[in-house]
Amino acid sequence: MTNMEPVIGLEIHAQLNTRTKLFCSCPTGGQTEPNENICEICTGQPGALPRLNEKAVELAAKATLALGGRVNGFSLFSRKNYFYPDLPNGFQTSQLDPPVGQGGGMTLTLADGSEKFVRLNRIHMEDDAGKCVHDEKRDRTLVDLNRAGVPLIEIVTEPDLSSSQEAVDFLKKLHNALVRLEVTKGRLEEGEFRCDVNISLKPVGSPTLGVRTEIKNLNSFRFVGQAIDFEIRRQTALYVAGAPVEQQTLHFDHVKAETWPLRSKEEAHDYRYFPQPDLPPVRVSPALIERLEKSLPPSLESVMARYRGLGLKDEAINNLLSWPGALSYFEEALKARPEAKRLSTLMAELFLPACRQSAIEPGEARLKPAQLAKLAQMMAEGKLGKRAAYEIFGDLFETGADPEALVQSKGLALVSDGEALADWAKEIVAAHPDEAQKYRAGQGKILSFFVGRLMRRSKGAADPQKAAQALLDVLGPAGQG
Ligand code: ADP
Ligand code: MG
Ligand code: ZN
Repeated sequence: MTNMEPVIGLEIHAQLNTRTKLFCSCPTGGQTEPNENICEICTGQPGALPRLNEKAVELAAKATLALGGRVNGFSLFSRKNYFYPDLPNGFQTSQLDPPVGQGGGMTLTLADGSEKFVRLNRIHMEDDAGKCVHDEKRDRTLVDLNRAGVPLIEIVTEPDLSSSQEAVDFLKKLHNALVRLEVTKGRLEEGEFRCDVNISLKPVGSPTLGVRTEIKNLNSFRFVGQAIDFEIRRQTALYVAGAPVEQQTLHFDHVKAETWPLRSKEEAHDYRYFPQPDLPPVRVSPALIERLEKSLPPSLESVMARYRGLGLKDEAINNLLSWPGALSYFEEALKARPEAKRLSTLMAELFLPACRQSAIEPGEARLKPAQLAKLAQMMAEGKLGKRAAYEIFGDLFETGADPEALVQSKGLALVSDGEALADWAKEIVAAHPDEAQKYRAGQGKILSFFVGRLMRRSKGAADPQKAAQALLDVLGPAGQG
């Protein structure tokens, strides 16, 4: 029997990071009540005219350029007609031909270390629909239009992916790139980044694609992986049984980890696309393209390489790359030339969790990048112990105080002053004559007992290496009692 291989293509929807909707000035977020952010345009009232959000066009063009595609100087919005209660216009305003962006792609590193270029077919803009909310108690369905008209880009790949692993890696990399570009906030739980997965099987090496199914609206990387694996197994079983795969739109049930066909009524689509007469063509000038190109941050690859060069581990790098605010804070702090590894540890363990907890962006923290860099540097130079640093961090974060001054005022600086250490060493050796005896009789390991006592006596402030030296000066070399 012929061996079959999976063929996968993705359609990714990302919510554009704009303050207002695609065709009106309603806010895109911040609502607490259903139908709070709506107007006559995004609820499709007769006679209301849409006006295109310029910022959305910029973000779509920026994403296209960053992903290596071409921005069309001229593109069109079309009406994609269908009926659904959460679609007040009776059509979605989307781009058919030409879309704002075409081509481009992203390179994946595969499990065996080889590289694969995944091509993009197109990037287009469209508006989001509202939401139907089922009211169980009174057995009725309500419509919330807060999301209606929220700007999205849809990124469509060529069918270049061959496994769930590749698809998930691709999505994570794309998510990372778009969040870093600030094209989207990318909050998956808010539905700001979601995708449809198209899957078919074909004989290995065959140039002809098989019949595909499409799994709609997945908003978690894990569900994408599970849905693909299930669908590959299902199609393989059909193939083995000699039964045809039906072209279908599927829904993924993440509780059962299975796919299910949507009601066929819903998939019998004839959208009757036609140009949206209420909107002029979208123009993107060469000057804008040039400005956007110049504004692009250095590529992910070059940032990775630079941070690896500073001794950071990939996990630490990814941690920074996944939060644009964290990345720019880190970059700013690096200007003070602290030890980069220590700085990234402080960010991962203390600073970023504190920002998350206070629900602020790193750039809004009272503790400035230069101060955090100073803290890292004091630790690297042995002026401050880890315990003391962690102890004062809460204060630093809240007040934005200068770490050096705070350490001074709290008396937390590592004591490496010879006289103080010598006094403590004498005191401790005198207080433990038996241990001193054993040490001098040749039990060299007992030194660590004395170091421990001295550290405690200093409330953790002694420089451990200098403390050991001070003790040696008092005790004399081991085994000479
Ligand atoms: P439509 O817009 O009608 O859903 P497209 O041709 O635009 O269809 O393709 C949508 C997605 O499906 C793209 O990501 C494409 O790569 C993918 N795709 C198309 N044909 C197949 C196939 N036979 N197997 C797997 N994926 C496919
Ligand atoms: Mg599709
Ligand atoms: Zn509106």
